[in-house]
Amino acid sequence: MGNKSETLFDDAKTVIPGGVNSPVRAFRAVDRNPLFINHAKGSHIFDEDGGEYIDYVCSWGPMILGHAYQPVIDAVKAACENGLSYGAPTEKETVLAKLILEAVPFMDKVRLVNSGTEAVMSAIRVARGYTKRDKIIKFRGNYHGHSDGLLVTAGSGLLTESNPDSAGVPKGYTATTLLADYNDKASVEALFEANKGQIAAVIVEPVSANMGVVPPNEGFLEFLRQITKDNGSLLIFDEVITGFRLAYGGASEYYGIQPDMITFGKIVGGGMPLAAYVATSEIMDVVAPVGSVYQAGTLSGNPIAVTAGIEQLKALKNDKDIYIRIDEFASKLEAAYRELGVTVNRVGSLLSPFFTDGEVTSYSDVLKCDTKKFAAYFRKMLDNGVYVAPSQFEAMFVSDAHSQDDLDKTIKAIKNSI
Ligand code: PLP
Repeated sequence: MGNKSETLFDDAKTVIPGGVNSPVRAFRAVDRNPLFINHAKGSHIFDEDGGEYIDYVCSWGPMILGHAYQPVIDAVKAACENGLSYGAPTEKETVLAKLILEAVPFMDKVRLVNSGTEAVMSAIRVARGYTKRDKIIKFRGNYHGHSDGLLVTAGSGLLTESNPDSAGVPKGYTATTLLADYNDKASVEALFEANKGQIAAVIVEPVSANMGVVPPNEGFLEFLRQITKDNGSLLIFDEVITGFRLAYGGASEYYGIQPDMITFGKIVGGGMPLAAYVATSEIMDVVAPVGSVYQAGTLSGNPIAVTAGIEQLKALKNDKDIYIRIDEFASKLEAAYRELGVTVNRVGSLLSPFFTDGEVTSYSDVLKCDTKKFAAYFRKMLDNGVYVAPSQFEAMFVSDAHSQDDLDKTIKAIKNSI
């Protein structure tokens, strides 16, 4: 960590809480000051002190094609010339909606919003409006953004900061959020049994990626599909991370399961603030102005963000070998950790090494991890020119820009760091 990042961080702290606009960026869990970023290109990110790092954060997922991917940059530059926002419909919104629906052909309609938080918050409102029920089930350690009702035993930054429930959320706001354990069918069955006819929806990260990567046990997602169907509840896949990453069709394609609603974020916006929720017409027609579930946004469907999303999705759709390449790259990283005796979970291009003994298949396994060991590993990786998420409870994201040279250097860094 050089002088300039340190100076910028000190200055930022005088005007921004903790110096950052999203908590994990502060590097608190790894006991180091954050890098301040100057620019990024391809698989590399450059800090204000002239440091160059192989980047496995990839803006926490969106940059699946690498940073500053030229077709996206060119299209965004051209779109800017036409004005940044109109607050009125454009043809491009329909183009993006159709590109999204090609990923999930069993869905009919899309609503564009600005963040994953908004997509999930809105999807849940729609599920409640559609089913006319109030309660939802979420899983411990899953993260669905920072709306009030979902900040309950949440993953990601909340888990990193050992504060899985946020202050400032009135009890009443979370009274209808019921908690189950990921990969534990009995915990879900018990909640359905105790709340008959009252569950609007089950929301799940089909692959948990906000407590480190924890894949679904065989049959778990099928079980969720069946129990929701049997109880007249909706199944919502939160694919803000897995969407357009595990496959063009995300986790629903990867696992061959059709939920009732899906939320997308990150990749769908090509690096711009854009997210979406989708469902069948029957469900989506409860949304205003057709139906009475209200959801709106000044910048929703913003032409610049939509342009970035279109270009990124087009690139992914037109070269599906991308998924084979990033999967293969990630499998080699997985092998490198495994060779050193580190527990590692991987699904496609998402992976997490865990500093613990034995397998990690549940939230309680995750909690047993040695976060001090993780922090030491993180600092060494950084010293070896590799930038991974500054938390045990996040995923590593592989992009199509990662090269053989990156792979060789990363494996070397892993060996030096563990
Ligand atoms: N859902 C999941 C699965 C996420 O991983 C995230 C963010 O990381 C969100 C929702 C919230 O998205 P955003 O940060 O864009 O509000």
